[in-house]
Amino acid sequence: MTAQNREKLIELFEFARKRIIQSMELRHCPHAGFYNSVDERCLYCHQGMECIWMNHNDELVALEQKSDEDLKQQLLIAVDFVDSNLSPYHLTRRKCQCENCQWLKQVNEVLGNS
Ligand SMILES: [Zn+2]
Repeated sequence: MTAQNREKLIELFEFARKRIIQSMELRHCPHAGFYNSVDERCLYCHQGMECIWMNHNDELVALEQKSDEDLKQQLLIAVDFVDSNLSPYHLTRRKCQCENCQWLKQVNEVLGNS
């Protein structure tokens, strides 16, 4: 991966974070969103995936130090997440301009030429 693409990839995490945090319901979380692998409430939490992702990729985690492969994989998880939360309306519009669809397009572009 070129340094330029890597930089773009890291920028794309910004939106993914925002999007995933928005969708999380933390009022009832006993750990305020910090995944705890020894608490079985975390294992069975319906927000498990979002939570684990956030704890791997929030601003405190230095994305710069991650490998290209790791970055790609984490971003693809976020893509699945954003994608599965879009209503069919977005998918049927071929050139949807909403921020979700724009973001998905950008991710595809960066991953497509790296
Ligand atoms: Zn859209």
